[in-house]
Amino acid sequence: MNKSVVLALDIGGTNIRIALVTEDGIVIDRSQSICRISEGRTAFLTAISSSIDEIRRSAITSGCCIVALGAGVPGLINLSGEIISSVNLKPLDGFDLRTWLESSTGLPSTILNDANAAAVAEQNYGAGRPYRSFLHFTLGTGVGSGLVLDGKLWTGRDGVASEYGHTTVEPEGHRCQCGNHGCLEQYASATAISRIVKEKIGAGAKSLLSGRPIDTLDASDVASAASAGDPLAVECFRVAGRYLGIAIASAVNLLNLEAVIIGGGVAASFDLIEPAIRKELELRAFSLPASRVRVIKGELGDNAGIMGAAASGWKLAAG
Ligand SMILES: [Zn+2]
Repeated sequence: MNKSVVLALDIGGTNIRIALVTEDGIVIDRSQSICRISEGRTAFLTAISSSIDEIRRSAITSGCCIVALGAGVPGLINLSGEIISSVNLKPLDGFDLRTWLESSTGLPSTILNDANAAAVAEQNYGAGRPYRSFLHFTLGTGVGSGLVLDGKLWTGRDGVASEYGHTTVEPEGHRCQCGNHGCLEQYASATAISRIVKEKIGAGAKSLLSGRPIDTLDASDVASAASAGDPLAVECFRVAGRYLGIAIASAVNLLNLEAVIIGGGVAASFDLIEPAIRKELELRAFSLPASRVRVIKGELGDNAGIMGAAASGWKLAAG
């Protein structure tokens, strides 16, 4: 008997991940390839098509019936599935990717922002399962967020809600690529953590990392040094946690959430940032919503994007 699956796509600025996923979240097959966006829109679409063709052949071999396609994409996506703008996929600005996927594959298709996909993944298959209302952060190169309210992903009037990585936490702060100054992303992303450690070492602070070529330091180096007890590295994560806590306190006062889930690469250092988040919550939010909200680590790690794309495909298939 044919097994029903969705075709899930996790499209990034460098790679395309593709998978066949059952409704229970079992990955039947998966692969990864280069997205070729640097060669322009046509090369990108050719790369997507060949990934899809390949996994469809595998679906036939393994007796799977693909019922829908879900894709997670970095950038602002409107409600009809058009990419309004994407820093990582610039040649796709203004492109109706959902319609293209649907017409080129013949499959019912849905697309969503990658940070929203990560939230939906945790909602369906991970740490968000016990909760009706939570905010999910993807702390990676940037700070992505996705808001689940009363069991539903909140996408807003135009589809572009929950860009909470671009909430202001320092009015005169670091310039952000969105055009604002002092966005959360400038203080709590992996990029920010590596910038902060470079600033501190450049200013003469002592660290286990002091002897390393400063330009090569990234957030995972800071995490390793923090695990080895380096006070400066620990301080960098505390700074990131503090700014996250400032932003989360506002969200908690506004929404009385059940949970805040931390995902993305920086979540590997969850134990280093959580105490600072909790401290800011206690300082800044009302005590009832602050004590209500759980601050927890995501469960899906690197798989959050593809599993969220799968969950959105299954939602579409269910009608
Ligand atoms: Zn910004």
